[in-house]
Amino acid sequence: MTVFSCAKCGAELTPDLQKLHGVPDVSLRDTDWHGDTRLAPSTVPRGSYAIDPEPWGAPFVAPVPRAVSAPANRALLMPPAMTDMVPAGPRDSAIVHPEDAPSLRLAGSLGMHHGCCGPLGTGGLNMTCVCGAGVATLAADCMGPHELHLDPLRTYAFRPDTSL
Ligand SMILES: [Zn+2]
Ligand SMILES: [Zn+2]
Repeated sequence: MTVFSCAKCGAELTPDLQKLHGVPDVSLRDTDWHGDTRLAPSTVPRGSYAIDPEPWGAPFVAPVPRAVSAPANRALLMPPAMTDMVPAGPRDSAIVHPEDAPSLRLAGSLGMHHGCCGPLGTGGLNMTCVCGAGVATLAADCMGPHELHLDPLRTYAFRPDTSL
């Protein structure tokens, strides 16, 4: 089991989470839309996390030929000014269920990085720890994936039992 903490203040951000073997293969087209929020189900179920080996999130860059980009079925919905750009953000971010990090708060003004009903996740770190440090990026608009990515440099994983 693993607990994720803020690298700046040490606050625990998640409960004990179980590591998944890879990122769940979700397809937004297969989504059972929630009746209330119409958000896609979280890519990662509660109580677990997955490490995303691909570059994810900001900064975004123009695509280069033959670039390997994130799986298309989990690609972020892009603001109009940034369509066709690809993520060049950190590899190995930990994806957790948004409700498994209840102390995080959404940063104030997201500007064009706010979709029709939630953050797109395209503007970089948009979730802050209680200490004020940006530690994670939430994507939670109805048309895109529903994922909370913990920044690999601004959070750290504590494993009381290293046999896992
Ligand atoms: Zn903190
Ligand atoms: Zn929406």
